Amino acid sequence: MRSTMQDVPLTVSRILRHGAAAHGGSKVVSWTGDGPRERSFAEVAARAGQLATALRDELGVDGDQRVATLMWNTAEHLEAYLAVPSMGAVLHTLNLRLPQQQLAYIIRHADDSVVIADASLVPLLPEVKRLIVVPDDYEELIAGRDPDFAWPELDEREAAAMCYTSGTTGDPKGVAYSHRSIYLHSMQVNMIDVLGSTPADTTLPVVPMFHVNAWGIPHAAFMGGVNLLMPGPHVQPPALAEMIETVRPTHAAGVPTVWQGLLQELRSRPRDVSSLQAVVVGGSACPPALMRSYDEELGVRIVHAWGMTEMSPLGSVAVAPPAAEDEWSYRVTQGRFQPGVEARLCGPGGTVLPWDGLAVGELEVRGPCVTASYYAADAPEKFSTDGWLRTGDVGTITSDGYLTLTDRVKDVIKSGGEWISSVELENHLMAHPGILEAAVVAVPDDKWGERPLAVVVPEGEADFHALRDFLGERVARWQLPERWTVVESVPKTSVGKFDKKLIRAQYAGGELD
Ligand code: ADP
Repeated sequence: MRSTMQDVPLTVSRILRHGAAAHGGSKVVSWTGDGPRERSFAEVAARAGQLATALRDELGVDGDQRVATLMWNTAEHLEAYLAVPSMGAVLHTLNLRLPQQQLAYIIRHADDSVVIADASLVPLLPEVKRLIVVPDDYEELIAGRDPDFAWPELDEREAAAMCYTSGTTGDPKGVAYSHRSIYLHSMQVNMIDVLGSTPADTTLPVVPMFHVNAWGIPHAAFMGGVNLLMPGPHVQPPALAEMIETVRPTHAAGVPTVWQGLLQELRSRPRDVSSLQAVVVGGSACPPALMRSYDEELGVRIVHAWGMTEMSPLGSVAVAPPAAEDEWSYRVTQGRFQPGVEARLCGPGGTVLPWDGLAVGELEVRGPCVTASYYAADAPEKFSTDGWLRTGDVGTITSDGYLTLTDRVKDVIKSGGEWISSVELENHLMAHPGILEAAVVAVPDDKWGERPLAVVVPEGEADFHALRDFLGERVARWQLPERWTVVESVPKTSVGKFDKKLIRAQYAGGELD
């Protein structure tokens, strides 16, 4: 029997119209360097309408043409987020930390017709077809335009936005999110166990809007009337500390290195960050020591989450079950899968492994917010024969559904037929009071195939033997690194994760002193 329900497509324009109508008074607060500037959701929506009118009338943007952005997290970027998909075009967010050559590749591959770029970022751009510079061109372009764009009724399965993976292996690959996936994902982000924020809250997305749609926060906030604090280019620890103290956001999100940096800053110069009720941390494994420091030193709760560009990105969130005796044993995991994310662990030859907390396998997922392919690129190795996404992440799942990732397939250290988890060694090292950052990578070894190399950022002098002993109390002896290197800071990828590929290339020769 068919349902009797109306077949209304789930589109970005519905998020836009709902945000404006129901939450027109909610605010986008932009941090400008010398204090905050505010714009209401009603104003953002009207300016989004003007932008769409200008893109259509002045630049002839039509159909599913791609409109790219090279922008910080700003109110204008949010306007483009809402306007471009709602008019039927496709928003392509460009990663401002990619080398120009890669940007050129991505812009060409996506066939971007127009690029909207912050003035300070224009020098990063290769040659593009049409450029709109923010603020000057942008303000001139939208000034006086009709804010009431007639948003078309779109097929919810059409592409709304696209994002390229950071391309740690091979060329970057594009994922095209549908209106439907963005709508459903926004509802998930707003669930109590994820951000769970309301119009009484303010969310600070430190995660850039070019990194998987800032993890879905801008859309979710507009849908839920949640105020946004946009940091713009001010994402260094002192600026973050100042804006948190001044604007008092209740929620925030970003990769672990951001929160590690803020912790150091606050240790040396305390600021009031007590407004923060929850900080969602993901993108790479959040060191348990970092979570504990936020709890104990700052009274701020870190919520650990796992996701991927290919998953919109939210995959799982680590909230302990209500009656948990040891809350921490759950909070440090990657958590439980989101509704709509089906998961399975696969062993060699694709055998499906049990959820018993012991069997280790590669994680495969499927769901309405998970990509089924890449835009104009073949990558059959990324999908199972029955269409699940192979995440490249390795781990276990407990019988009550908690995922623990031990590594990425490409980062795990294969030593004499056994696997060593680089993440486990890193987490232990980063729990050492004298270590600020630690990354562990595989280096070739004549006898064992691969052995771990530890790259550490010590607070003062590093005593490798003492560090090895410290690790020796926590992991099996055969897992202990023989090779150690001190660095000033661990190299990071374009989205702030430890760049293990670069570390392997740069430090493969490290030795025990
Ligand atoms: P890239 O692959 O270019 O880094 P993504 O941001 O899509 O781009 O990265 C997704 C990957 O990041 C996941 O497959 C996983 O390996 C890692 N990751 C994300 N969140 C976590 C987490 N909480 N714990 C461990 N790894 C994580």
